[in-house]
Amino acid sequence: MSEAELVLCTTRVVTPQGMRAASVSVRDGRIAAVLPYDARPPAGARVEDFGDDVLLPGLVDTHVHVNDPGRAEWEGFRSATGAAAAGGITTLVDMPLNSLPPTTTVGHLDTKRAAARGAAHIDVGFWGGAVPGNVEDLRPLLDAGVFGFKCFLSPSGVDEFPELGPEQLAAALGEIARFDGLLIVHAEDPGHLERAPRASGPHYAGFLASRPRAGENDAIAGLITLAERLAARVHVLHLSSGDALPLIAAAKRAGVRISVETCPHFLTLTAEEVPDGATEFKCCPPIREAANQEALWQGLADGTIDCVVSDHSPATVDLKTADFGTAWGGISSLQLGLPAVWTAARRRGHTLEDVARWMATAPAALAGLGHKGAIEPGRDADFAVLAPEETFTVDPAALRHRNKITAYAGKTLHGVVRSTWLRGRRINDGTTLTEPTGRLLERPPGH
Ligand SMILES: [Zn+2]
Repeated sequence: MSEAELVLCTTRVVTPQGMRAASVSVRDGRIAAVLPYDARPPAGARVEDFGDDVLLPGLVDTHVHVNDPGRAEWEGFRSATGAAAAGGITTLVDMPLNSLPPTTTVGHLDTKRAAARGAAHIDVGFWGGAVPGNVEDLRPLLDAGVFGFKCFLSPSGVDEFPELGPEQLAAALGEIARFDGLLIVHAEDPGHLERAPRASGPHYAGFLASRPRAGENDAIAGLITLAERLAARVHVLHLSSGDALPLIAAAKRAGVRISVETCPHFLTLTAEEVPDGATEFKCCPPIREAANQEALWQGLADGTIDCVVSDHSPATVDLKTADFGTAWGGISSLQLGLPAVWTAARRRGHTLEDVARWMATAPAALAGLGHKGAIEPGRDADFAVLAPEETFTVDPAALRHRNKITAYAGKTLHGVVRSTWLRGRRINDGTTLTEPTGRLLERPPGH
């Protein structure tokens, strides 16, 4: 039996055709129709009127380190997905490392799923891992439902997830190309990192010098060459170096199957502002200079960069020492990505349609989630209701992240998430979350 129809109306609905006043009717968890604002609701329908608040597609965050099982004290499924729901995210795809075991075999994927089952406030999918020696696990992982494969070209930071050398990379990508899968890459060249001065001490400048732009640029150049040779599909994770953009743009023009993401911290924080000892700003590749950030915004504006995703990568407070050489690298922003990006985007004249494209539609397309990421008939009724003109000041204590460490502490941001909806049900009303109703997602066939 069909559930009673739900109609969500506001003067500002972000659709693929632009923002407009509309009534969105929902049936059985899916968007049934996008109708004029003053369309008469069907008899018996429940109507929710959001006034002038903006109805956005629920965000899709394809880069999240949940760390559960094994390092659940860093972050767990319940806390990560709760923070995501509070931040307007309705789907996340979990990274294969920092949990124990890492997601590098089907057995390990089963362990991950067991940890997530019943604990997910939002829908959750999984990336597999490509590590030395597991080429034969890739196809079975794909068949078991992972969305693609992550690899590193330089040390990952955890021993159980080693990087691929050049020959191992070619072998993994060759195998992935055989089934037309997707390889997502942490692209920093190990040679550059070895030659750079080591980071140590409380000053950010030393850390920045230890992860030079050239390391990213050269790794991406090599990846483009290999993807072209193998006609393979690759995705550059967390692009920080603006210098790599011309290279990527040229590869795209030449038909190389490459896509690119960047992250809220690269778009909103700068090296110049990092205080001594503030390792909540440490991540790899690093937050760079303000001028570099302008290049990233240009890359988003001209379409060279496809997606903006969090790379939420938390750790416990004790691992965030005041020494940039030894502190754990990773920035926590799951709950804050939308307001952080919107605050910077609006200043540059970008619209919420742009933000929805970068943070919902494009990441959904990357993972092949054709039923997510946009407000149009047939897609899941996943929404974020946003008050875009309203501001708030980031209080770490208000975050649902397990470890309340954030590089955004004290910042005043635009955009308050009023509520979040998953398949037609309100899961977050701005203060409280419902019990978890998220599903575990599998790669759709043919992607
Ligand atoms: Zn990451």
